[in-house]
Amino acid sequence: MDLARFWNFSAGPSMLPDPVLNQISIDILDWNSTGISVADINHRSKHFEIIYNEAESYLRSLLELSSDYCILFMQGGGQGANAIVPMNMIGRNRANKADFIISGYWSSKSYLEACRYGDVSVIADNSYITKIDDHDYDPYTWFPANESIKTRYGSSYLQFCSNETINGVEFVDWSGIANNINSDAVLVVDASSNLLTRKLDINCTGVVFACAQKNAGISGVTIFIVRKDLIGKALHICPSIFDYMNIFNEHSRYNTPPVFAIYVTGLVLKWLKMNGGIKRMEYSNLEKSQLLYNFIDSTSFYINKIHSSVRSRVNIPFFLSNNLLTDIFIEKAENLGLMNIRGHRSLGGLRASIYNAMPIDGVMALINYMRDFECYYG
Ligand SMILES: *Cc1c(COP(=O)(O)O)cnc(C)c1O
Repeated sequence: MDLARFWNFSAGPSMLPDPVLNQISIDILDWNSTGISVADINHRSKHFEIIYNEAESYLRSLLELSSDYCILFMQGGGQGANAIVPMNMIGRNRANKADFIISGYWSSKSYLEACRYGDVSVIADNSYITKIDDHDYDPYTWFPANESIKTRYGSSYLQFCSNETINGVEFVDWSGIANNINSDAVLVVDASSNLLTRKLDINCTGVVFACAQKNAGISGVTIFIVRKDLIGKALHICPSIFDYMNIFNEHSRYNTPPVFAIYVTGLVLKWLKMNGGIKRMEYSNLEKSQLLYNFIDSTSFYINKIHSSVRSRVNIPFFLSNNLLTDIFIEKAENLGLMNIRGHRSLGGLRASIYNAMPIDGVMALINYMRDFECYYG
């Protein structure tokens, strides 16, 4: 069935691929010719066993995960992970220490939450104006240099966000950081908005987490990729349902998991696999984002201030040089079916989130609209 749909540029929950929605519409009434709705399926049933195993094995193969890592499906969203991580990780080394890189909105939130659990410090940040190649860069538009990133003695982990969904700063040289830090610390990465959008060096990390509603399904489930030797070190205050050990031992069914959300994640992963996997997504996301950045850079009517080396391929914030036109830009975009283009409330302006499921036609439609708008108002 062809779906009549708008172009949804939302940062999350974001658009799902059409084939996934079509499959859901069938399974919601009758999953796999069992006569059971996928929404009714019991988490201890053999049906869910199939759904779960499929989701896990697609994820494993798409990410080419080594057997050193396990996959945990947990709840609490990206922000839940901000507490789950320190509760499981900060006590590894006796000092109860963790270090952070601040690069924007989400890493700041992660840091503040972690402070409740131990001695937590910001060891590098981009919250000030800096000069690069004789040009001034605003706070949260660049990324600290690898050489400046050193962990403190006794620190259990270093956490950063690999794609600041709101600010539009993406950082992917994970191994560059891993090589620099103390050997007793591991990397923890919030990859909520760029996991599965390009090749990422998971093998140099301790933990990678991502809430599903950006690139891997709907809200309600968070993917954790955890190096197995890091499991079993949770603080005793950690709730049992958030202890990696329990989730690992019970194959993410320590309590009732988000059955429907895991099911949708499985469908999205299958769609990814059928459509060329990470390699193909990386190519397509590069192509889409270059089209949009090239257009923005070709005119002074639109502005994106992010340093070119860390411009996000999936979340592209931009401003109109005349900010007074922002509301009318959004209103006219919506009239044409270009939805959810307003920037995050903390930043203002505009933002186009163009994750895996956004076809190049959607990006072209946006660019054509931007060109027309400039012709009229510029
Ligand atoms: C969306 C997002 C979060 C927050 O996720 P919730 O599921 O809403 O808690 C955290 N980090 C990043 C990078 C995100 O994009």
